[in-house]
Amino acid sequence: METKYWTVDKTVDNLQSYPQIKQAAHMLIDNEVVAFPTETVYGLGANAKSNEAVKKIYEAKGRPGDNPLIVHIASIEQLKEIVQSVSDTSKKLMDVFWPGPLTLIFKRKQGAVSEIVTAGLETVAIRMPDHPIALSLIAEAGLPIAAPSANTSGRPSPTTASHVADDLSGKISGILDGGPTGVGLESTVLDCTEDIPVILRPGGVTKEQLQEVIGEVGFDAALKNSTAAPKSPGMKYTHYAPRSPFILVNGDPVFLQELVDEKLAHGLKVGIFAAKEHENVFRASHVLSPGGFDDLDSVAAGLYDTLRRFDDLGVDIIFGEVYPENGIGQAIMNRLMKAAGNHIINQE
Ligand code: AMP
Ligand code: MG
Repeated sequence: METKYWTVDKTVDNLQSYPQIKQAAHMLIDNEVVAFPTETVYGLGANAKSNEAVKKIYEAKGRPGDNPLIVHIASIEQLKEIVQSVSDTSKKLMDVFWPGPLTLIFKRKQGAVSEIVTAGLETVAIRMPDHPIALSLIAEAGLPIAAPSANTSGRPSPTTASHVADDLSGKISGILDGGPTGVGLESTVLDCTEDIPVILRPGGVTKEQLQEVIGEVGFDAALKNSTAAPKSPGMKYTHYAPRSPFILVNGDPVFLQELVDEKLAHGLKVGIFAAKEHENVFRASHVLSPGGFDDLDSVAAGLYDTLRRFDDLGVDIIFGEVYPENGIGQAIMNRLMKAAGNHIINQE
């Protein structure tokens, strides 16, 4: 299949009337799949009402069928068509964080979106992205748009259109290139159907930010304990992984360097995923850094690109430093642990 590629300037006014957006919206209406930028990562969109369209997302990504998709909307009217009711807690959160990187779980209306989107669950995950291209595309299509990250399942999520093309060129109908995304990590998924809202996936909106608005917020037990069954089906899969083995190291730079030296001595090509502060301290085949300990927003924004760059460099193994788990650090460590398949070496 030929993949149409459009470049769009996200800063121009009245995007909805641009031919690139109109063409992409028409493909969505025709039940084709199109990748588009959001403020978190690039999404792979399809008409959420159509089984035929949604199946194409799972096929292109190679995504397991029991992993439900987030439905993206551009207006509150669209929300009302899909969900049974909106609680006061959800309303408060929507007022503050929408459009933005917060996905909320609602009880779904029967038949409002394809059952494949919700993977048979009684609930549906919804968010309104904070990106002019995403919002104008969804509005122009006039449809709720199911959209997971636009990468091959298991690979690091895409934060540029070229990441999308690397994984999905020839497998999808179009790619809207609106430049690099902002946050760089996926949305926070919050289940508000319980008395105390529970974070199913940490992401762009932090627990602290949520608590300022609605008080107590919990964490799904599965996020801390790898044997508990996650409520967010997607959290059980290996994700975000570079092609070579990736191992996190919880220790000082001297300890990490010793691990690296041992591999170098065996003739391996070794990469280090380093904090900016240590970029020039380490010796390895390649040392790359997404950002420093005191600049976690940059780390989030550059995390997936850094993992993908190691693939391009063809390293045999990557050692990674751990980051503090405050604020967005929680989402950063969640993604790094998944990328490492939970493989972490702790210094004695
Ligand atoms: P992705 O589309 O790759 O950003 O992943 C979407 C995440 O949202 C996955 O972890 C899904 O399991 C989760 N998700 C989607 N719908 C639901 C739902 N109805 N209940 C719980 N988690 C959901
Ligand atoms: Mg994903």
